[in-house]
Amino acid sequence: MFAQHLLTIADSFRTSDIHILPEQKHYDIYFRLNGQMDKQFYLDREEGGRLISYFKFLSNMDVGEKRRPQSGSMTFQLKEKAVDLRFSTISNYQSQESLVIRLLKQKDSNKQEVGAFFRHEWDMLKKLVDSKSGLLLFSGPVDSGKTTTMYHLVKNRLDGEKQQVITVEDPVEIEEVTFLQTQVNETAGISYEHLLKSSLRHHPDVIIVGEIRDEETAKMVMRGALTGHLIVASIHAKNCRGVISRLLELGVSLTLLQQTLIGIAFQNLIPLYCSLCGTNCQTYCSHYPRDQKRAALFEVKTGDSLKRWLMDERVEIPVRSDVQRDFNHLLEKVSMYGYISEKTYQRYLIANQ
Ligand SMILES: [Zn+2]
Repeated sequence: MFAQHLLTIADSFRTSDIHILPEQKHYDIYFRLNGQMDKQFYLDREEGGRLISYFKFLSNMDVGEKRRPQSGSMTFQLKEKAVDLRFSTISNYQSQESLVIRLLKQKDSNKQEVGAFFRHEWDMLKKLVDSKSGLLLFSGPVDSGKTTTMYHLVKNRLDGEKQQVITVEDPVEIEEVTFLQTQVNETAGISYEHLLKSSLRHHPDVIIVGEIRDEETAKMVMRGALTGHLIVASIHAKNCRGVISRLLELGVSLTLLQQTLIGIAFQNLIPLYCSLCGTNCQTYCSHYPRDQKRAALFEVKTGDSLKRWLMDERVEIPVRSDVQRDFNHLLEKVSMYGYISEKTYQRYLIANQ
């Protein structure tokens, strides 16, 4: 059966998303691998339509409804294990549906390595995550490896020692048996705010927050950091400084930030140049292993340079030592060493840093 075959292959490739997209006369199926869309299958129009209907049926969507976007979820049994899937459909103006399938809990945290370009920033992060309390924030685009980094650092902090770690996420992406992992469920009325409130009552050593996206969550995170917990969270911003602006936007005061914030990191996963491929290393090339075709570039702000930002967020004059390790400068270095192509360098630069 094709659905079984498709999911088995996607699972073995550890892809995060399967895209079933209509073309004029057929469907193309892509896997998202290392951030790139990789074409895997071709189906004729009828087969593609049937596959989409099948998945819609399994995940309790309205099979007859083709115009309205829909979403659903289910657990699919493969030969050797079960995979959790989330589905979403959207149609173009000609009522041709496309379907995206997200594969959840693909990742086993023990197998997750963070390949960082620079040791210096990684060591800074390791030190920060050892703090007794405070707030450590991560930002970066979608699929920049923030969750992997947060999990890895917190696991590193435990180092076999028993500490309570609670995660609040939407959804849980990485399975980690030593953490208590909780998941937001809006339809059941379980919000980030609810989960955070109950997490704080457990007095854990560390709380990992999937994303600070509203005022209530921001407020709760601040309370947690003030009351002796280490909170490691991600927040949407286009660079380190943007994190502060975003928190101010969410109603957090500068004074509160001065009391809680111990570090900010901005990260992205950058595709590596491969001399065999003559470009970014491709899916089937064996030069770099499949899950190591990208490496993480971090900018980390902590200590005095962070303090300067928090004294007055309007101060725009950068100090020389800060500039040397800002994201764009490190990216330039990586490019000069030949780890990435010129095109990649241009593409990953942060605008108006
Ligand atoms: Zn290659």
